[in-house]
Amino acid sequence: MLVDAHCHLTGTYLAEDQVEITLARARSQGVTGFIAVGTDLEDSRKVLALTRSTREIQASLGVHPHEAKGWSPEVGAALLELAQDSAVRFIGETGLDWHYDLSPREEQDMAFRAQIQLAKALGKPLMIHTRSAPAETLKILTEEGAEAVGGIIHCFSEDRAFAEQALNLGFYLSFSGITTFKKAEAIREVAAWAPEDRILVETDAPFLAPVPYRGKPNEPGFVRFTAEAVAALRGITPARLATCTTRNLEALCGWAPSS
Ligand SMILES: [Zn+2]
Ligand SMILES: [Zn+2]
Repeated sequence: MLVDAHCHLTGTYLAEDQVEITLARARSQGVTGFIAVGTDLEDSRKVLALTRSTREIQASLGVHPHEAKGWSPEVGAALLELAQDSAVRFIGETGLDWHYDLSPREEQDMAFRAQIQLAKALGKPLMIHTRSAPAETLKILTEEGAEAVGGIIHCFSEDRAFAEQALNLGFYLSFSGITTFKKAEAIREVAAWAPEDRILVETDAPFLAPVPYRGKPNEPGFVRFTAEAVAALRGITPARLATCTTRNLEALCGWAPSS
């Protein structure tokens, strides 16, 4: 039994009539829990609606750094109201993306800080997206006291030094399909070393499909391949990896597919 700790199942990411088919394929791979992630207010509403269809799906609601230019106090207030729902397990994805810079950096900074405060107000953990801004991400998490709620560094793609600091702040490391890519030696090193009670696996579907589907649209069932790769790196069985990542998600957010 595996859980996909971060996937996109709504709106522009996946057509509505494909959701059930996609989830059925995932179940056939032993994947029975899904954290569906919203990337702006409208998408977050769709994600929350999706949680009503099955208990296998829980939500992470927030405004992605790409969408930070749309952040406002009104958006924050609406998000706070939506996120009170018990099916909402995480706030985000939020963070910094200085690789694509699709929103001005000051606005990414503002939206990120505001969502950390929102997560703290709700007592819910964060879902962090960080790309090409490792030091600044850690600085903001520290300054805003994110340690009070912790969360997930989703699609972990940093090095061991970053991992150590994130772990110290109470964060879990979620490994994606990138872990299976040829050039990802630094990430594999962290996947092999990280404490067993702080690791997760995810797809970030429809992006970043793992080998052997690299370059194809990703889907939650493919988390199996990442899980197998991480298990092999750690010298443990895929079954043990599945058990510990499911237990870790439950420890972090209070939910597992069976609970
Ligand atoms: Zn992301
Ligand atoms: Zn994502």
